[in-house]
Amino acid sequence: MLHDRDVEFDAAVDILVIGAGGCGLCAALSAHSAAQGGDIAVLEKNDRLQGNTALSSGSIPAAGTRFQAQAGLADSAEAFVEDLQRIAGVHQMPGLTRRLAEVSAELVEWLVDVAGVNLTLVETYKHIGHRQYRLHSPPSRRGADLLDDLADAVARRNIPIVFGNGATDLVVDERGRVCGVQARTRDGACTTLAARAVILATNGFGNNRELLREFCPEVAAAPYGGATGSEGEAVLWGRELGADLANMGAYQAHASLADPHGSLVTWTVVEKGGFIVDASGRRFGDESQGYSSFAALELERAGPFHVIADARIRDLTAQGQSEYAELVANKGVLEFDTIQALGDRCGIEPVQLARTLGHAVAAAAGEEADSWGRSQWGGGPLRPPYTAMRISAALFHTQGGLRVDPEGRVLRKDGSIIPGLYAGGGAAAGISGARGSQGYMSGNGLLSALGLGYLAGRCAAGQLSREACS
Ligand SMILES: Cc1cc2nc3c(=O)[nH]c(=O)nc-3n(C[C@H](O)[C@H](O)[C@H](O)COP(=O)(O)OP(=O)(O)OC[C@H]3O[C@@H](n4cnc5c(N)ncnc54)[C@H](O)[C@@H]3O)c2cc1C
Repeated sequence: MLHDRDVEFDAAVDILVIGAGGCGLCAALSAHSAAQGGDIAVLEKNDRLQGNTALSSGSIPAAGTRFQAQAGLADSAEAFVEDLQRIAGVHQMPGLTRRLAEVSAELVEWLVDVAGVNLTLVETYKHIGHRQYRLHSPPSRRGADLLDDLADAVARRNIPIVFGNGATDLVVDERGRVCGVQARTRDGACTTLAARAVILATNGFGNNRELLREFCPEVAAAPYGGATGSEGEAVLWGRELGADLANMGAYQAHASLADPHGSLVTWTVVEKGGFIVDASGRRFGDESQGYSSFAALELERAGPFHVIADARIRDLTAQGQSEYAELVANKGVLEFDTIQALGDRCGIEPVQLARTLGHAVAAAAGEEADSWGRSQWGGGPLRPPYTAMRISAALFHTQGGLRVDPEGRVLRKDGSIIPGLYAGGGAAAGISGARGSQGYMSGNGLLSALGLGYLAGRCAAGQLSREACS
């Protein structure tokens, strides 16, 4: 932490956003909208847009949107809160859960109507935990398209994104107000920028093994499938400033990355009736608990693992999801007429695999209870030809961070606000429980990123205009 008396500022803006991901760009747009202009800039440590938002499927959950109404679907913020609480269990950010659920419909409609982001309601899958179709995503189901649309909106408003400039420290004044940022360019040059409000949108600490060892030790050595920029600066700076941290042990993992290519094998394959086995041909859990929670089961045992489905599920899934369709087109999903041939080719014990399939088919047909307690089998029993895809688990992003109030203002341990400092997305504490991967519901990452970006940008702009009037 630097003190303003010790630095000379090279430039000044009203609102400085750190990080050009979904949270940062949404915060910049929302601040611009609220202030009807204003002097806003975004600093980004990478040379281009390449945070987790770009890697995601771009799915933002929202309850009570006009898109749901147009599709004849009834939903409410109350139902969304209940779903989030049921999956997450007790944690330290219940107020934020409610705030994000309540603002979710307004957020998605604002993204479409004001920011010009192309979003459509996903009606082919709900993902685990959501009682209603509420994911809104680019038609391609790619986060990169969501981020490109946000970046276009930022460019149309002439808000500069300064690439290749990683913020290295915060600057505070004598009253403890955050009043600027120090940054370093790739060639090592240092600049110091004054700002009346700083919004931290730097994501979490998935790519910082030391912080993982401290807060999420069970995944500190796990493969990491997120963006390299998530190095945990918000936690390090916030801690130095006396900010409170919350839900630090929570994270999102994913059970289903193509092994070895690493691309995402959508969980829709499982939701439509697929199941997961180890090399012995046995299942080892209820897959319907979701990809994040199920990942813990893979991370604690030896692989390889395979997701077993059938050609019907493969083709239905590929119709709606281009990343998976690419895997299929590139022959990444193997097809077999018999389960024995599948076992032989994939190195899975074929006799046991045939037994596992028999039980899964009977459970999906309602003829016997599943020994793992699974009751949802999507499109019913698997039938030949069967498909197999080798998969492994990875950590995607952390869900703990700076404790913020429902407007994104960073809080100290005593609950007071650190003036001038806001946080959102992975930089802030999330709403996915207090520990581990079990509390993560699909969409929690982008809801926190775009939702808190929207709220923090608006709050920062409002605060500055109130200060200007007083
Ligand atoms: C493969 C994958 C799939 C996912 N799918 C989904 C999904 O479908 N739905 C969902 O809700 N969530 C999903 N998530 C999680 C979701 O992507 C994240 O929770 C969300 O994108 C976080 O947004 P953010 O803006 O906080 O971070 P990011 O999008 O990562 O943006 C942070 C930006 O800050 C920059 N930065 C970091 N430190 C600094 C610094 N010191 N100075 C300047 N810039 C800095 C980074 O380089 C980066 O560009 C997925 C994650 C992964 C990895």
